[in-house]
Amino acid sequence: MHLKSLTLRGFKSFASATTLRFEPGITCVVGPNGSGKSNVVDALSWVMGEQGAKSLRGGKMEDVIFAGTAGPSGRPPLGRAEVSLTIDNSDGALPIEYSEVTITRIMFRNGGSEYQINGDTCRLLDIQELLSDSGIGREMHVIVGQGRLDSVLHADPAGRRAFIEEAAGVLKHRKRKEKALRK
Ligand code: ATP
Ligand code: MG
Repeated sequence: MHLKSLTLRGFKSFASATTLRFEPGITCVVGPNGSGKSNVVDALSWVMGEQGAKSLRGGKMEDVIFAGTAGPSGRPPLGRAEVSLTIDNSDGALPIEYSEVTITRIMFRNGGSEYQINGDTCRLLDIQELLSDSGIGREMHVIVGQGRLDSVLHADPAGRRAFIEEAAGVLKHRKRKEKALRK
């Protein structure tokens, strides 16, 4: 299983539809400051169901919708943001009968939102369940945000262990165990 492509439409600085294709191996996104590199990473978190505005580097959830640009060649704000992530599932890692799976999240400025799996409307829960055992998804994927690399490198042994446990997917079981023991 690997990520094949990511399409952004009206998401943050990506007013026009923009598709990034990922080949197997390492993908590197380069560009000047403010060109939208971190916005691409935010789009990945968002389409996988991220619900926290702060994790998406915004104040409120609507901040992911293209807010318009000033100046003579400026563009007006848009009313909706849409991100689609296509995952190669030819190894069947995702519990669904498709060799290619596209998950889509759409959000409207009036607050409404929609999720889709291969074009069919679904619930956020369906996306979370689809991704939950695959090592990706809101709780599982490991995104080390800008400036966080320092905190990984400078963490004390306990802190470093927490990072590794999160990456290995152990943390959720530890949390469940702690919760069960408290009862
Ligand atoms: P750096 O190298 O400094 O980390 P970067 O390439 O990661 O830069 P981003 O943080 O992804 O840059 O992009 C920031 C840009 O995105 C800013 O110019 C900001 O105005 C723009 N931006 C963020 N949200 C929106 C939005 N909702 N509408 C329009 N533009 C937005
Ligand atoms: Mg950045």
